[in-house]
Amino acid sequence: MICFEVYINGQKVCLAGVGDDGVLSVMATFIASSESQRTDFRVGGLIKVDAEIQQQVEWIDREVNVGDDITIKIVESENYDTPMNGRTQYLQCSFCRKKQEEVSKLIAGSNNYICNECVVSCSQVITEGANVGNISLFEAETNPSCSFCGKQFPEVEKIVGFEENRICNDCIDICQEIINADND
Ligand SMILES: [Zn+2]
Ligand SMILES: [Zn+2]
Repeated sequence: MICFEVYINGQKVCLAGVGDDGVLSVMATFIASSESQRTDFRVGGLIKVDAEIQQQVEWIDREVNVGDDITIKIVESENYDTPMNGRTQYLQCSFCRKKQEEVSKLIAGSNNYICNECVVSCSQVITEGANVGNISLFEAETNPSCSFCGKQFPEVEKIVGFEENRICNDCIDICQEIINADND
């Protein structure tokens, strides 16, 4: 399908596409008034959610300045970047990458999500100390912080997870309460 590969000053900023049913547009808008003036650059479009509903999607919306060089390459591509908003953005567990509809519960932190299944794995790691899949205990020496509450040792007793996906024992307790409350 047709996609737009967009570059600003030689740097690729997005590969935008709307699949087989939608509208894709690239727009530069100059807005002037007595107080100020600015030029905005936008790559966006409309995608069809179902027969009745169209949704606006957007890849780029930023100010551009005098001298900026914008290149739009029309390309054939099977894949394109996920827009910043819109239906193709879905919530998923940061730990196992399962999507919201694949798990029975997905709990949101400030930047992370954890699903009910990973809550069980994490609490198992907290109580037993042994790794479950790629989830393991963080050493206090690495000075990790919980991705959900931001707390560090010794404020929290244990932190488990991997890489940037970390959760403390307190947050796991809260998650378990949320899951149990919903099951009642
Ligand atoms: Zn998960
Ligand atoms: Zn926490």
